[in-house]
Amino acid sequence: MRTVLDARTSSGYGSRSRGGIHAILDVETALAAADTAARLRDRVGAGEKLSGPAARRALTAAVQAPRFEGRIVPRNFAKKASAFLARDGIVLYDNHDAYLICAFKHDTALCKPEEGARAPRQYDCRPGCGNTVRTDTHARLLRERADELA
Ligand code: SF4
Repeated sequence: MRTVLDARTSSGYGSRSRGGIHAILDVETALAAADTAARLRDRVGAGEKLSGPAARRALTAAVQAPRFEGRIVPRNFAKKASAFLARDGIVLYDNHDAYLICAFKHDTALCKPEEGARAPRQYDCRPGCGNTVRTDTHARLLRERADELA
């Protein structure tokens, strides 16, 4: 839904009457991204190594991201979530299907996100993208998957 509705900037889908759904998606996306950053911080703390062109950015993001221990969302949280997602290049998106974390930077994204989109088109993740980060676990799982396919 996030990806589809990011077309709001070009399709006019984000008229004021639709504003509510975008706010909800911003909150859910920000929480998921913060969870991804917190998990990455834990993994690195436990000794896992990172690889990939965006590894340095991901490390910065993991260190800076807040950790949400609960799910109580105050009234002004949607604005905060929107600001959190606007930090181009240091918001982390878990892309389980591609065995990677996407440190989404709009201008270098090979999945060609819409103009103004603040999230990648993860279903169209492309090999060789400069926003790619892999932990040792991702790399191992990817190798296992390649072996399976072979
Ligand atoms: S191609 Fe993949 S790694 Fe690159 S921005 Fe898109 S989802 Fe992220």
